[in-house]
Amino acid sequence: MVGIRDTRGRPLRDLRISVTDRCNMRCRYCMPREVFGSDFAFLSKMDILTYEEIDRLAGLFISLGVEKIRLSGGEPLLRKDLPELISMLALRKVEIAMTTNGVLLPRFAPALSAAGLDRVTVSLDALDEATFAAMTDSGHTVAAVLAGIEAAESVGLGPIKINTVVKKGANEDELIDLVERFSSREIAVRFIEFMDVGTTNGWDMEDVVTAEEIRGMLAELEPIESQYRGEVAKRYRLPQGGEVGLITSVTEPFCGDCSRARLSADGHLYTCLFASQGLDLLTPMREGASDDDLLALIESCWINREDRYSEIRTESSTAHTRVEMSFIGG
Ligand code: SAM
Ligand code: SF4
Ligand code: SF4
Repeated sequence: MVGIRDTRGRPLRDLRISVTDRCNMRCRYCMPREVFGSDFAFLSKMDILTYEEIDRLAGLFISLGVEKIRLSGGEPLLRKDLPELISMLALRKVEIAMTTNGVLLPRFAPALSAAGLDRVTVSLDALDEATFAAMTDSGHTVAAVLAGIEAAESVGLGPIKINTVVKKGANEDELIDLVERFSSREIAVRFIEFMDVGTTNGWDMEDVVTAEEIRGMLAELEPIESQYRGEVAKRYRLPQGGEVGLITSVTEPFCGDCSRARLSADGHLYTCLFASQGLDLLTPMREGASDDDLLALIESCWINREDRYSEIRTESSTAHTRVEMSFIGG
C-alpha cells in the first residue's frame, strides 16, 4: 500500500466524511439551540459536495493510504439517498462505517446494509429519558435510539459501538447502567471525555469527567492491547464479559498515533478535529482540477501536517476559533 506520512511520521489511514452539517438533535455539547436555531445559516445544497465528488475524493484518499471511511455529520441520515453514496464507496473495497444518533436507523438500516455499509456507531448519552432529553435537547427519545440499535443489529451492521459523551453533572450516574445494558450483547460502550471542539458549546475543564474518574466508577477493568496503531479508544475487558472503551482526548491525548483526516460537507480537508481552517478542495475540483492536481494538494497538506492540539492544549489555544464538530464530522 502506497502511503504518505506527516511531519511526525503519522500515516494517512482514516477518512471521516461529513455528508451534512444539519442535525435533528441539538445536543448541548455539540449544537446548542441558542446558536444552531431556526435562523442559523446551514450550508446550501450547492455548497456541499455531491456524491460523485465525495466518491472521487474518496478514491484519491484511498490511493494515498486510507483504509477506512467513516460517514458522519451533522446527522448523516438526514442526507437524502445516503445508500446511493454508500453503494458507490463500497466498490472501493475499504471498510465503511457511520456514526449516527440512531433515530432514523429503523427506516434506513436495511437499505444501508444492502448498499454495503459495514457497521455503525450509535451515540447514546443516557438510558434515562429525562437525562437524555436534557443532553440532546431534541424531542427524540431513548426508546427511538434503542429501536435504531435493534434495527442495525437485525441487518448485521455490527459490531455496533455506542458513543457516550460524559459531562459532569449531566450523565455520570448513567455510566454503569449503560455498560450493564450493552455488555451482555457484545456492544461496546465508549465513554468520551467532553471536548472543547468548536467554540459554541461553552466548554469548561470543570465539566470534564476525566478518564481516571470514569475508570474509578467502573472498577476492575482489564486493559486490552490495542489492535492497531491509531486506535482511538483505550479498551478494557469487563469482569462480567464484554468490553468498554474510553476516548480520552482531553486528559490522556493520543495525537502521536492520529491518522485521521476529515472532509467537511463543503469539501474542505481538515487534518485535526480542533483545526480552525481547512484546505478547500471543492473549488479546484469545480474549476476542473485533474486527479493529479487534487492529489498534489492533499499530499502536500498531509506531509506538512504538524497537528497535536490535544497534547499542547492550553488556555490560550482553547481561546482560538475552531471549526464546529457538526461541520467536520465527529
Ligand atoms: N450526529 C451523529 C452522532 O451524534 O452520532 C454524528 C456526528 S456527532 C458530531 C459524532 C460524535 O461526536 C458523537 O458521538 C458525539 O457524541 C460526539 N461529540 C459531539 N460533540 C462532542 C463534544 N463536545 N465532546 C465529545 N464528543 C462530542
Ligand atoms: Fe447532532 Fe450528533 Fe451533534 Fe448531537 S452530537 S447535535 S446528534 S451532530
Ligand atoms: Fe488527532 Fe488533532 Fe485529536 Fe490530536 S487533537 S488526536 S491531532 S484530531
